[in-house]
Amino acid sequence: MKNESRLMWLSGNIIPVEDAKVNVLSPTSQFGLNVFEGLRGYWSEKDKQLYIFKLEEHCERLLKSIKMVRFECDYTVDFLKNAILDVVKANNFLEDIAIRQTVFVDGFGNWAATGPVDMFIAPIAKGRQLIDKDGISCCISSWERISDKCLPPKIKMGANYMNSRLGQMEAHRNGYDSTIFLNNAGKVSEGPGACLFIVRDGKLITPTITSSILESITRTTVIDIARNNLNLVVEEREIDRTELYIADEVFMCGSAVEILPVLSVDKMPVGSGKKGLITQNIEQCYFDILRRDIIVNDSWLTPVY
Ligand code: PMP
Repeated sequence: MKNESRLMWLSGNIIPVEDAKVNVLSPTSQFGLNVFEGLRGYWSEKDKQLYIFKLEEHCERLLKSIKMVRFECDYTVDFLKNAILDVVKANNFLEDIAIRQTVFVDGFGNWAATGPVDMFIAPIAKGRQLIDKDGISCCISSWERISDKCLPPKIKMGANYMNSRLGQMEAHRNGYDSTIFLNNAGKVSEGPGACLFIVRDGKLITPTITSSILESITRTTVIDIARNNLNLVVEEREIDRTELYIADEVFMCGSAVEILPVLSVDKMPVGSGKKGLITQNIEQCYFDILRRDIIVNDSWLTPVY
């Protein structure tokens, strides 16, 4: 299917993407006044079924973002879930997909407006994120990660991504694939669109949820897999910048990047400079679960058809 002819959900209707329009004077257009989710759906050839990963968790997080940003609307988890399932079904996807679900402020108000609130849901065919190498190079950003004291990273809002943009653009200008932000306490927080794990002495370590990070659904999944499937010790604690230099392994994780090895930080190789064994095991287990080769928890994968 051509991307232009796919169907999306807007204001309760399923319509072609090219017919979905938003008012240029709306607060979402002018000030990035929106909250959103990025979900993934994985096609199982074995089951001839498309499964949405952690649908309920994404809808719950969206409602929390709506609450924190004080939008006036009465969406429920069931409404959000059904809207996603309806529009994915309407597209008849028989392949892996990514879904953008955005709740935004329409109308003619300013950045303090709380409504009128509307939503769009745009699914798109998207295979596994493949890179032509084993992993990526990162620098430490000269930009500080936004914090709960100014622009809470816990709210998944469009405007937060201007901080991600500054860091990512700086990294590209300087020849790195991506960047790692430090928070206002100078500790490691996250990447521009993904959370971060390191491995030290066989232990998996990740910044706490109060380290200026998004409460990532993949981060929770990785912790779960590490503890319950791989019998690893997982610590949620502050991470120093220099720990990235001496870690045995570093990887990012997120719905979009899935499991993404970081092979160097500030031009210093991480461990052997190759994808590490624990990262490989986590990646393998993550995809075994997504493809239903291992069934851990039925509620993680919602069938579309
Ligand atoms: N941090 C940021 C800043 C992100 O944009 C994302 C992607 N949504 C993540 C972390 C990972 O979150 P999740 O695992 O829920 O996709």
